[in-house]
Parts: sequence; structure tokens; C-alpha cells
Amino acid sequence: MKLIFLGPPGAGKGTLAVKAVEILGVQQISTGSIFRAAVAAGSPLGLKVKAIMDAGKLVDDETTIALVKERLTQADVQKGYILDGFPRTIPQAQALASFSSVEKVVNFDIPDSGVLERLGGRRVCRMCGYNFHVKFNPPSQEGVCDHCGGEVYIRDDDQPQAIQKRLEVYRAQTEPLIGYYREKGLLVDIDASPMVDEIVVNFKKVMGIK
Ligand code: ADP
Ligand code: ZN
Repeated sequence: MKLIFLGPPGAGKGTLAVKAVEILGVQQISTGSIFRAAVAAGSPLGLKVKAIMDAGKLVDDETTIALVKERLTQADVQKGYILDGFPRTIPQAQALASFSSVEKVVNFDIPDSGVLERLGGRRVCRMCGYNFHVKFNPPSQEGVCDHCGGEVYIRDDDQPQAIQKRLEVYRAQTEPLIGYYREKGLLVDIDASPMVDEIVVNFKKVMGIK
């Protein structure tokens, strides 16, 4: 199954993707995680994108498209994938259509208030990328990942100013993709406001999985 997870920052795309990977047996491809790994490694890509990400802006289409195009040539994603955080612009969606055929786009429906609450409390594992939340899903030991023992930290782009910017960018550049994919008959909506377990149930329902 070739899937896109579409929705505002903090909608829970990455969190659901971890569960959906188990349910569907396909790989998650998160452009945000790939960029963060590049930043952590200090690679040329990382040096190029760090300031852009910290400001809550989008990495340019050319760079992002080339990265995903390359990733999609690899053997482990030929039968399926979950694209989490890509495409984020109409040109990215058009490019994707030229090198892969997506079967469904899951649209995460959540109001701004929900986004702000989630991003404000989000904590992320530096090693495995797992998402925690101070209130909804805290690590059992503060600052330590339950899954890999890595350091749990606040992403630079989860600082209040960057959050506001990311929401603006989402409205202007990414939200138009809802109409784009609805027109193609690929869009399914899920209510992303409830807690994770309930979102998993909603997800299975729209995917026709029991
Ligand atoms: P979130 O969905 O929580 O905003 P992501 O982890 O998906 O965060 O992305 C973090 C940052 O990485 C984005 O704010 C942006 O700078 C960059 N990024 C990720 N995916 C893309 C993309 N498809 N196009 C451009 N920039 C991207
Ligand atoms: Zn971890």
C-alpha cells in the first residue's frame, strides 16, 4: 500500500505512522526525520537545511523532491510506503506523481488549538525519533526514551515562534493539497483530535482493515 499522510504539523502523522507501519508492514518515509538526521550528522544537506527548519520554513522543492525520488528507488519500498511530511507543496505532489503512484492520501483533520497543544508539549527521541508528549504520552523516565534509551529533547522548531510560522506555511502551501488529492479521488479524512489509540481505530476504519 502506497500512502501519504497529510496534515498540519503536530497532527500526529509521525505517531500514527509508527503504528501504521506495524499494521500494514510497509516502511515510513519521513522527510522531516531525514532532514533532522542530516542536521545531526552535520552533512552538507544538514548544513543547508538547519536554519530553514529552525525558522519553521520549508526546504526548497528541488532538494526535497530529489531526496524522496532517490529514497523511492530503494528495494524496501517497492511494495509500499507511508510518506509522512511529503508532499508539502503542489509542485512536490506533481513531481511525486511522475515517479510513483500513490493509492491513498490520509488527511489528518485537527483544529489549530489541537496543533498548538500537541506541539507545545512534544518531546522527541534524538536517536529513534519516537514522539512523546509531556501530558499525553510522557517517557517513563524524564528525558530518556523508553524504546532505545536515547535522549528525549524539544525540537528547535517546536519553539513557539517556529510553531506559528509552520502553521502559516501549512495553510499557504500544504493545505491546497487537500483539494488536489480530493479531486483525484484519493483523499480519506480522519479525525485526528482524539488520543492515539482512537486515531488508530479511525485509521483502520478508513483503510477497511478489521
Ligand atoms: P512537522 O510535520 O511536525 O512540522 P516534520 O518533521 O515533518 O515536522 O518536518 C520538519 C521540517 O522539515 C519542516 O518544518 C521543514 O522545514 C522540513 N521539511 C520536512 N518535509 C518537508 C517537505 N516535504 N518539503 C519541504 N520541507 C520539509
Ligand atoms: Zn528512542
